[in-house]
Amino acid sequence: MDSKLVVAVDVFDCDFALDLAREIGKEVFALKVNWPLLMVRGSSIVSELSRYARVICDLKIADIPNTNRLIVDKVSGEGAWGVISHSFTGEDSLKSVVEAAGDTKVFSVVAMSHPGASQFIHPRTDELIDLSIKTGVYGLIAPGNNYEMLSGIRARTNELVLLTPGIGAQGGTPEEAMRHGADLLIVGRAIYNAEKPIEEVRRFNSAISQFRR
Ligand code: C5P
Repeated sequence: MDSKLVVAVDVFDCDFALDLAREIGKEVFALKVNWPLLMVRGSSIVSELSRYARVICDLKIADIPNTNRLIVDKVSGEGAWGVISHSFTGEDSLKSVVEAAGDTKVFSVVAMSHPGASQFIHPRTDELIDLSIKTGVYGLIAPGNNYEMLSGIRARTNELVLLTPGIGAQGGTPEEAMRHGADLLIVGRAIYNAEKPIEEVRRFNSAISQFRR
């Protein structure tokens, strides 16, 4: 399946999440799990969801290297395809994530899609991108509801995969995000709250299928 859609499953209800995965898994690039499901079910939710699609663990890791390693070992052992880490914690911290990840892809946060990101993260985004490149991450998290920032991130790196949230509930549109340099789009509420999630998945897939980078 040639989808560029990553569906964020930010719910507490594991049965709902597994039913959703069964319904949409074959038509999306990946599913993204965050703290809500991991807190309720534990790390086994990663292997359970991996039966239906790739799984990206959005843990926004931000700890000392040893703790980072423990976290990453656990989710890669469960079969996570990808993991999301912060980068503001500095080189040794991010490097520990990349080293522990092995074949699991690491995406680092260099910008965020909520207004508060302009206080501390966005003034240092360029440095966070350069650090992420140096550390050897696979991709970056780049906001899909701030097109100027998204294209600025794309302009700084042509190689890294841009994984882009902020589409739908946070105001970004799939077409504009792709036009401004995104590779993969994260959509959560606009899909899992829909009456027929599979129809929304198809709508997003067809909106972005024309874009190639
Ligand atoms: O429901 P919605 O489409 O807004 O979900 C966006 C998802 O992307 C959530 O899981 C959120 O935690 C995540 N995310 C984000 N902004 C970032 C990084 C991750 O919205 N910078």
